[in-house]
Amino acid sequence: MIKLENVSKTYQTDKVETLALRDINLHVKKGEFVSIMGPSGCGKSTLLNLIGLLDRPGKGKIAVDGNELKVWRDKELASLRNRTFGFIFQSFHLINDLRVIDNVELPLLYRSCSAKERRRLAEEALAKVGLSARMDHYPNQLSGGQQQRVAIARAMVGRPSVLLADEPTGNLDSQMGAEVMDILLKLSHEGTTVVMVTHDERQAKQGGRIVRVFDGQLVA
Ligand code: ADP
Ligand code: ADP
Repeated sequence: MIKLENVSKTYQTDKVETLALRDINLHVKKGEFVSIMGPSGCGKSTLLNLIGLLDRPGKGKIAVDGNELKVWRDKELASLRNRTFGFIFQSFHLINDLRVIDNVELPLLYRSCSAKERRRLAEEALAKVGLSARMDHYPNQLSGGQQQRVAIARAMVGRPSVLLADEPTGNLDSQMGAEVMDILLKLSHEGTTVVMVTHDERQAKQGGRIVRVFDGQLVA
Protein backbone atom coordinates (compact mmCIF):
# COMPACT_ATOMS: atom_id res chain seq x y z
CA MET A 1 0.00 0.00 0.00
CA ILE A 2 2.69 2.50 1.11
CA LYS A 3 6.40 2.06 0.53
CA LEU A 4 9.19 4.37 1.68
CA GLU A 5 12.67 3.59 0.37
CA ASN A 6 15.75 5.33 1.73
CA VAL A 7 13.72 8.41 2.55
CA SER A 8 15.40 11.41 4.18
CA LYS A 9 13.93 14.80 5.03
CA THR A 10 15.81 17.97 5.90
CA TYR A 11 14.15 21.19 7.09
CA GLN A 12 15.88 24.42 6.11
CA THR A 13 15.16 27.51 8.20
CA ASP A 14 17.40 30.53 7.70
CA LYS A 15 20.86 29.20 8.47
CA VAL A 16 19.78 26.14 10.42
CA GLU A 17 19.43 22.76 8.76
CA THR A 18 17.60 20.00 10.63
CA LEU A 19 17.87 16.44 9.43
CA ALA A 20 14.44 15.28 10.61
CA LEU A 21 14.47 11.82 9.01
CA ARG A 22 17.37 9.73 7.83
CA ASP A 23 17.27 6.77 5.46
CA ILE A 24 13.82 5.48 6.32
CA ASN A 25 12.63 2.18 4.87
CA LEU A 26 9.05 1.32 5.66
CA HIS A 27 6.42 -0.82 4.02
CA VAL A 28 2.82 -0.56 5.21
CA LYS A 29 0.52 -3.25 3.88
CA LYS A 30 -3.14 -2.81 3.08
CA GLY A 31 -5.28 -3.17 6.21
CA GLU A 32 -2.39 -2.93 8.68
CA PHE A 33 -2.67 -0.89 11.89
CA VAL A 34 0.74 0.70 12.43
CA SER A 35 1.66 2.79 15.48
CA ILE A 36 4.60 5.16 15.28
CA MET A 37 6.27 5.76 18.63
CA GLY A 38 9.30 7.70 19.86
CA PRO A 39 10.38 10.72 21.92
CA SER A 40 9.34 14.28 21.13
CA GLY A 41 11.19 15.75 18.15
CA CYS A 42 12.36 12.39 16.78
CA GLY A 43 10.52 12.83 13.47
CA LYS A 44 7.17 11.11 13.96
CA SER A 45 4.99 13.91 12.53
CA THR A 46 7.42 14.40 9.66
CA LEU A 47 7.11 10.70 8.86
CA LEU A 48 3.32 10.84 8.98
CA ASN A 49 3.27 13.95 6.75
CA LEU A 50 5.50 12.22 4.19
CA ILE A 51 3.35 9.08 4.19
CA GLY A 52 0.26 11.26 3.72
CA LEU A 53 1.81 13.18 0.83
CA LEU A 54 1.52 16.45 2.75
CA ASP A 55 5.21 16.97 2.16
CA ARG A 56 7.86 15.68 -0.23
CA PRO A 57 11.00 13.86 0.84
CA GLY A 58 14.41 15.41 0.22
CA LYS A 59 15.86 12.07 -0.79
CA GLY A 60 14.45 8.63 -1.47
CA LYS A 61 11.29 7.20 -2.95
CA ILE A 62 7.70 7.06 -1.78
CA ALA A 63 5.19 4.86 -3.53
CA VAL A 64 1.46 4.67 -2.83
CA ASP A 65 -0.40 1.70 -4.32
CA GLY A 66 2.53 1.06 -6.62
CA ASN A 67 2.59 4.62 -7.97
CA GLU A 68 5.89 6.34 -7.31
CA LEU A 69 5.22 9.97 -6.54
CA LYS A 70 8.53 11.69 -7.18
CA VAL A 71 7.72 12.92 -10.65
CA TRP A 72 4.27 14.17 -9.77
CA ARG A 73 3.11 17.74 -9.81
CA ASP A 74 1.38 19.37 -6.84
CA LYS A 75 -2.05 19.00 -8.41
CA GLU A 76 -1.65 15.27 -9.02
CA LEU A 77 -0.25 14.84 -5.54
CA ALA A 78 -3.21 16.65 -4.00
CA SER A 79 -5.65 14.56 -5.97
CA LEU A 80 -4.02 11.27 -4.92
CA ARG A 81 -3.80 12.53 -1.33
CA ASN A 82 -7.49 13.39 -1.17
CA ARG A 83 -8.56 10.08 -2.65
CA THR A 84 -6.26 7.94 -0.53
CA PHE A 85 -5.89 9.53 2.91
CA GLY A 86 -8.03 10.78 5.75
CA PHE A 87 -6.28 12.83 8.45
CA ILE A 88 -6.98 13.34 12.12
CA PHE A 89 -4.94 15.39 14.57
CA GLN A 90 -4.46 15.82 18.30
CA SER A 91 -6.29 19.14 18.19
CA PHE A 92 -9.44 18.23 16.32
CA HIS A 93 -9.30 21.04 13.73
CA LEU A 94 -13.07 21.30 13.46
CA ILE A 95 -14.64 24.54 12.30
CA ASN A 96 -16.56 25.92 15.26
CA ASP A 97 -18.93 28.09 13.19
CA LEU A 98 -20.20 25.07 11.29
CA ARG A 99 -22.57 22.43 12.59
CA VAL A 100 -21.23 18.90 13.04
CA ILE A 101 -22.94 17.66 9.86
CA ASP A 102 -21.44 20.53 7.82
CA ASN A 103 -17.98 19.83 9.19
CA VAL A 104 -18.29 16.23 8.08
CA GLU A 105 -19.50 17.23 4.60
CA LEU A 106 -16.53 19.53 4.01
CA PRO A 107 -14.16 17.10 2.24
CA LEU A 108 -16.92 16.26 -0.24
CA LEU A 109 -17.23 19.87 -1.44
CA TYR A 110 -14.15 19.27 -3.58
CA ARG A 111 -15.73 16.33 -5.33
CA SER A 112 -18.44 16.08 -7.90
CA CYS A 113 -21.06 15.07 -5.40
CA SER A 114 -24.62 16.42 -5.15
CA ALA A 115 -25.81 18.17 -1.98
CA LYS A 116 -28.14 15.26 -1.31
CA GLU A 117 -25.38 12.70 -1.72
CA ARG A 118 -23.06 14.75 0.52
CA ARG A 119 -25.67 14.78 3.22
CA ARG A 120 -26.29 11.05 2.92
CA LEU A 121 -22.58 10.18 3.15
CA ALA A 122 -22.05 12.55 6.10
CA GLU A 123 -25.00 11.06 7.98
CA GLU A 124 -23.62 7.59 7.33
CA ALA A 125 -20.16 8.61 8.60
CA LEU A 126 -21.65 10.15 11.76
CA ALA A 127 -23.69 7.01 12.41
CA LYS A 128 -20.46 5.00 12.24
CA VAL A 129 -18.93 7.02 15.08
CA GLY A 130 -22.18 6.95 17.10
CA LEU A 131 -23.01 10.66 16.76
CA SER A 132 -26.17 10.71 14.66
CA ALA A 133 -27.98 12.51 17.48
CA ARG A 134 -25.45 15.35 17.46
CA MET A 135 -25.42 16.37 13.82
CA ASP A 136 -27.08 19.73 14.35
CA HIS A 137 -24.86 20.65 17.29
CA TYR A 138 -21.81 22.87 17.03
CA PRO A 139 -18.39 21.38 17.88
CA ASN A 140 -17.97 23.37 21.10
CA GLN A 141 -21.21 21.86 22.41
CA LEU A 142 -19.54 18.44 22.40
CA SER A 143 -16.96 16.76 24.64
CA GLY A 144 -13.38 16.37 23.40
CA GLY A 145 -13.95 12.69 22.68
CA GLN A 146 -17.07 13.46 20.68
CA GLN A 147 -15.24 16.19 18.75
CA GLN A 148 -12.52 13.73 17.83
CA ARG A 149 -15.20 11.27 16.69
CA VAL A 150 -16.62 14.01 14.44
CA ALA A 151 -13.10 14.53 13.08
CA ILE A 152 -12.89 10.78 12.36
CA ALA A 153 -16.23 10.94 10.52
CA ARG A 154 -14.92 13.87 8.48
CA ALA A 155 -11.70 12.00 7.70
CA MET A 156 -13.62 8.90 6.58
CA VAL A 157 -16.53 10.49 4.69
CA GLY A 158 -14.73 10.30 1.34
CA ARG A 159 -13.95 6.62 2.00
CA PRO A 160 -10.15 6.86 1.98
CA SER A 161 -8.19 3.61 2.12
CA VAL A 162 -5.74 4.99 4.71
CA LEU A 163 -6.43 6.90 7.93
CA LEU A 164 -3.48 8.88 9.31
CA ALA A 165 -3.76 9.91 12.95
CA ASP A 166 -1.29 12.21 14.72
CA GLU A 167 -1.71 11.61 18.46
CA PRO A 168 -5.48 11.29 18.13
CA THR A 169 -6.01 10.70 21.85
CA GLY A 170 -3.34 13.12 23.11
CA ASN A 171 -5.89 15.70 24.30
CA LEU A 172 -8.37 13.20 25.74
CA ASP A 173 -8.79 11.58 29.13
CA SER A 174 -8.34 7.81 29.25
CA GLN A 175 -12.01 6.94 28.86
CA MET A 176 -12.58 9.20 25.86
CA GLY A 177 -9.24 8.04 24.46
CA ALA A 178 -10.39 4.44 24.70
CA GLU A 179 -13.62 5.29 22.84
CA VAL A 180 -11.68 6.90 20.02
CA MET A 181 -9.26 3.96 19.94
CA ASP A 182 -12.20 1.52 19.68
CA ILE A 183 -13.43 3.35 16.59
CA LEU A 184 -9.98 3.28 14.99
CA LEU A 185 -9.73 -0.48 15.68
CA LYS A 186 -13.19 -1.02 14.22
CA LEU A 187 -12.27 0.88 11.05
CA SER A 188 -9.11 -1.19 10.82
CA HIS A 189 -11.06 -4.45 11.12
CA GLU A 190 -13.29 -3.24 8.31
CA GLY A 191 -10.22 -2.92 6.05
CA THR A 192 -9.00 0.65 6.47
CA THR A 193 -5.22 0.94 6.80
CA VAL A 194 -4.40 2.98 9.93
CA VAL A 195 -1.11 4.73 10.69
CA MET A 196 -1.10 6.44 14.07
CA VAL A 197 1.44 8.45 16.04
CA THR A 198 1.00 7.77 19.74
CA HIS A 199 2.76 7.97 23.10
CA ASP A 200 0.45 5.33 24.55
CA GLU A 201 2.16 1.94 24.57
CA ARG A 202 -1.07 0.12 25.43
CA GLN A 203 -2.92 1.60 22.47
CA ALA A 204 -0.01 0.84 20.18
CA LYS A 205 -0.12 -2.81 21.26
CA GLN A 206 -3.86 -2.94 20.60
CA GLY A 207 -3.18 -1.80 17.04
CA GLY A 208 -0.63 -4.54 16.38
CA ARG A 209 2.48 -3.34 14.61
CA ILE A 210 4.75 -0.78 16.30
CA VAL A 211 7.38 1.26 14.46
CA ARG A 212 9.88 3.03 16.72
CA VAL A 213 11.66 6.20 15.68
CA PHE A 214 14.70 7.62 17.42
CA ASP A 215 16.63 10.66 16.28
CA GLY A 216 15.19 10.53 12.76
CA GLN A 217 15.81 6.83 12.22
CA LEU A 218 13.68 3.71 12.46
CA VAL A 219 15.10 1.61 15.25
CA ALA A 220 12.53 -1.20 15.48
P1 ADP B 1 7.91 14.57 16.44
O1 ADP B 1 6.62 14.51 15.68
O2 ADP B 1 8.50 13.23 16.70
O3 ADP B 1 7.80 15.39 17.67
P2 ADP B 1 8.75 16.22 14.21
O4 ADP B 1 8.61 15.37 13.01
O5 ADP B 1 7.69 17.21 14.48
O6 ADP B 1 8.99 15.28 15.49
O7 ADP B 1 10.15 16.99 14.11
C1 ADP B 1 11.39 16.35 13.82
C2 ADP B 1 12.49 17.40 13.80
O8 ADP B 1 12.28 18.29 12.71
C3 ADP B 1 12.53 18.27 15.04
O9 ADP B 1 13.88 18.57 15.32
C4 ADP B 1 11.76 19.50 14.65
O10 ADP B 1 12.19 20.62 15.38
C5 ADP B 1 12.10 19.62 13.17
N1 ADP B 1 11.02 20.25 12.39
C6 ADP B 1 9.75 19.79 12.27
N2 ADP B 1 9.02 20.56 11.45
C7 ADP B 1 9.85 21.56 11.05
C8 ADP B 1 9.69 22.70 10.20
N3 ADP B 1 8.54 22.94 9.55
N4 ADP B 1 10.77 23.50 10.02
C9 ADP B 1 11.95 23.26 10.64
N5 ADP B 1 12.16 22.21 11.44
C10 ADP B 1 11.14 21.36 11.65
P1 ADP C 1 -0.38 18.23 16.97
O1 ADP C 1 -0.44 16.79 16.48
O2 ADP C 1 0.87 18.55 17.73
O3 ADP C 1 -1.64 18.72 17.63
P2 ADP C 1 -1.37 19.37 14.61
O4 ADP C 1 -2.41 18.33 14.75
O5 ADP C 1 -1.80 20.78 14.74
O6 ADP C 1 -0.22 19.09 15.65
O7 ADP C 1 -0.64 19.23 13.23
C1 ADP C 1 0.29 18.19 12.92
C2 ADP C 1 0.89 18.46 11.54
O8 ADP C 1 -0.11 18.40 10.50
C3 ADP C 1 1.52 19.83 11.40
O9 ADP C 1 2.73 19.69 10.67
C4 ADP C 1 0.52 20.65 10.62
O10 ADP C 1 1.16 21.61 9.79
C5 ADP C 1 -0.18 19.62 9.77
N1 ADP C 1 -1.63 19.92 9.64
C6 ADP C 1 -2.47 20.27 10.63
N2 ADP C 1 -3.72 20.42 10.18
C7 ADP C 1 -3.70 20.14 8.87
C8 ADP C 1 -4.68 20.06 7.83
N3 ADP C 1 -5.97 20.32 8.06
N4 ADP C 1 -4.30 19.75 6.59
C9 ADP C 1 -3.01 19.48 6.34
N5 ADP C 1 -2.01 19.51 7.27
C10 ADP C 1 -2.35 19.82 8.51
